[in-house]
Amino acid sequence: MREKHNKRCGQEVSRHQQVEEEGPVDASLAQAILDSMDVSVAILDAEGIICAVNEVWRRQQRETCTTDHQLERTGIGVNYLEICKRAQGAYAEEAPEALAGLQAVLEGAQPAFSLEYPCFSPTQRNWYLMSVTPLPQQRGAVVAHIDITKRKRFDQQKDTFIALAAHELRTPLAALKGLVQLQRKREKNQGKEEHGRFFTKVEAQIEHLTKLVSELLDVSKMQAGTLDYVEEIIDLEKFLKESVEVLQQAYPGQQLNFQSIPTVVWIIGDRGKLTQVIMNLLNNAILYSPQANPVDLSLLVVDDTACIHIQDYGIGIPREDLEHLFEPFYRVQRPRHYHAPGLGMGLYIAQEIVKHHRGTLSVTSEEGRGSTFSIQLPLWKAPF
Ligand code: ADP
Repeated sequence: MREKHNKRCGQEVSRHQQVEEEGPVDASLAQAILDSMDVSVAILDAEGIICAVNEVWRRQQRETCTTDHQLERTGIGVNYLEICKRAQGAYAEEAPEALAGLQAVLEGAQPAFSLEYPCFSPTQRNWYLMSVTPLPQQRGAVVAHIDITKRKRFDQQKDTFIALAAHELRTPLAALKGLVQLQRKREKNQGKEEHGRFFTKVEAQIEHLTKLVSELLDVSKMQAGTLDYVEEIIDLEKFLKESVEVLQQAYPGQQLNFQSIPTVVWIIGDRGKLTQVIMNLLNNAILYSPQANPVDLSLLVVDDTACIHIQDYGIGIPREDLEHLFEPFYRVQRPRHYHAPGLGMGLYIAQEIVKHHRGTLSVTSEEGRGSTFSIQLPLWKAPF
């Protein structure tokens, strides 16, 4: 048995040596591997010339090229960068971005590139993901076009459902709120206050639901690009101070520190939306600091940028969650006793709002030590 195993190992070793001597894989084996994939794949050399394609690539080219001349311009030996430059029809809009990404990967300026693009024609309404991965030692790249139509349709259905659900939930919620307020007032006028605490609890739950529904609406409007912004000049230091004061009233036992530079810092922005961002970050900082540790808010100016840091000393965020934190509906899995209600929309909304203000929102965190969320916003300078 052992001997047989050694023998097999011996065979494997000699095959390994043979592979090393011949090169990684011979051409027909590589072609067979490429053809077995149900994704359209081409291998480019360092100049962008197509050196190999798989069967799906060939089939797709036959389907999309209307003349033999067109077909010739898409095959082996042709420069793929030129194909991107001369793209027409369904691909023309995304072609410059595809070209720039491809060039960046081939030149080693970017580790990889991907781009989702639609391909709408009278006969098809498909979506593709173009992915470019470099070959080792800058010897070229692998270009793949993956059909993501099903996922896109599902995403669109999900977006439509969220928009509809949020819209439909708003009306009954507003009615419920009105009814509770009316009944509370009636009882107060009749001198009956025994249901006061009950009404307060109901109102708090309605408030929570209203916030969730309004976040859902924000997310769907952001994804559709229809969220409205109103802009004004804001004294950032004053604005942050007021936000801290409002929150301090809601959490009287919480230590909230605010530190700022002694100059006036102006920005242009939507006051309501920026309040939403700061409140969300401060609320999270308090929520995820179960020992009621202090929360520090600071404002400073670096060159032409206002930098706001919100630092807590709470439970922190696991390293593997950090890169997904700003995705819509992403929540960190916590042990039961840390569970806080929410749908994972707050940070996504915050980042979209900051981006709209031409700023950035980022995070650093260490589990068990706390997190720092940092906002950078361009300063507004008076034109005189
Ligand atoms: P939610 O409204 O559901 O809390 P967010 O988008 O605001 O959603 O936050 C997403 C996740 O990020 C939360 O599930 C939470 O676990 C984590 N998180 C956000 N802020 C902090 C923080 N300051 N400390 C620890 N975890 C945080």
